[in-house]
Amino acid sequence: MEGTCLCGAVRVEVKDDNLFGGQRRGHVCHCTNCRKTAGTAAATNLLIESDKVVLSGEHNLKEYIDTQTLSGTPLSRYFCFTCGNPIKSVTSLYPGKVILKLGIFPKIPVPEWESFASQRQSWEKPIDGCVQYKTKSLGEELKIE
Ligand SMILES: [Zn+2]
Ligand SMILES: [Zn+2]
Repeated sequence: MEGTCLCGAVRVEVKDDNLFGGQRRGHVCHCTNCRKTAGTAAATNLLIESDKVVLSGEHNLKEYIDTQTLSGTPLSRYFCFTCGNPIKSVTSLYPGKVILKLGIFPKIPVPEWESFASQRQSWEKPIDGCVQYKTKSLGEELKIE
């Protein structure tokens, strides 16, 4: 399944047959910076090996280096410079991997986990069956009482 930005200049194909096969994939991120760039309460992301991601129209991507991260490690956020659609993020915290913005695809799988769950909005509920990470993905888990 192919993902595209709003204007169609950037196209993304993931070489992973299981991505839209019905199983849980990806995560919801509640961090402030994902929220801002997505313009929504939370972002739907996929942490995946970068060699599985085929991008076309890469020349149409602009990089924003986000230095205001909780870890202090800069994170490169890439978006289409024509339509402003966020496409992917890259950080040295996840070597060899890329964080894809799942909103560019025609559908979004049920997520595996939620990151920055401690920053979830008061009116949002945890998603059933999702592992809850207090802050970053695969970090410390948040136990829900
Ligand atoms: Zn675009
Ligand atoms: Zn985030």
